[in-house]
Amino acid sequence: MAPGDHILPDPAGFGRAARTSSPGATRELGGRVGGLLRGGEIVLLYGDLGAGKTAFVQGICSELAVAQEVVSPTFTLVNTYDGRLRVQHLDFYRVEPGHDLDDIGVPDILDEIWDGAAVGLIEWPSPLLARLGSAARFEILVRPTGRGDEREFLLRARPELPAGWAALFPPREERAC
Ligand code: ADP
Ligand code: MG
Repeated sequence: MAPGDHILPDPAGFGRAARTSSPGATRELGGRVGGLLRGGEIVLLYGDLGAGKTAFVQGICSELAVAQEVVSPTFTLVNTYDGRLRVQHLDFYRVEPGHDLDDIGVPDILDEIWDGAAVGLIEWPSPLLARLGSAARFEILVRPTGRGDEREFLLRARPELPAGWAALFPPREERAC
C-alpha cells in the first residue's frame, strides 16, 4: 500500500500538542504517556514514514518494562509485547483497504484490549477505523516542524481527554488564519 493511500487526518482537528527535539525526547514523551496507561486504551499513531511513531512506542514500552526489542511490525503487522501491561503494537502500512483483518487476529486483539487486558498502539491505522466504530481512542499525529530534528505530537481523544494526558499535551496556540 502506498503511503498516499493512507489518510492522514487534518492537523486542524487536533487541539493539543507536545514537541520533542530528539529521538530520546520522543521516547521520554512516550514514557510519560506509558505511565498513564492502565490497559484498555487504543492509541492511533498517524504520521509519515520516519516521523517518530515507533520511537514514541519504544518510549511507552520502556516505561511498561517491556524487555523485547520494539521495532515497527511493518511486515508482521502485529507485535505483542509483555511488560507491566500487554502491548499490542500494530502497523498497517502494508495493509490494503478491504484486507481481511481477521486473518491477523484483529477481532481477538480488539477484544483483549477492550477487556482491559492490553493496550493497542497502532501505526498507519486507517484500515482499522471501520472496525473501531465510535470506540474510545487517543489519536496522535506526528510531524516534523522543520526546525532541526523537532517533531510535533498533535493529540486528540474521544470521548474526552483525561487530565493526565492534558497535562502532557498543552492546548495549541490560537493561530491567525
Ligand atoms: P515511524 O515509526 O514514524 O516511521 P521511526 O520512529 O521508526 O518513525 O523513526 C524516526 C526516525 O527519525 C528515526 O531514525 C529517529 O532517529 C529520527 N528522529 C529524528 N528526530 C526525531 C525526534 N524528535 N523524534 C523521533 N524520531 C526522530
Ligand atoms: Mg514505525
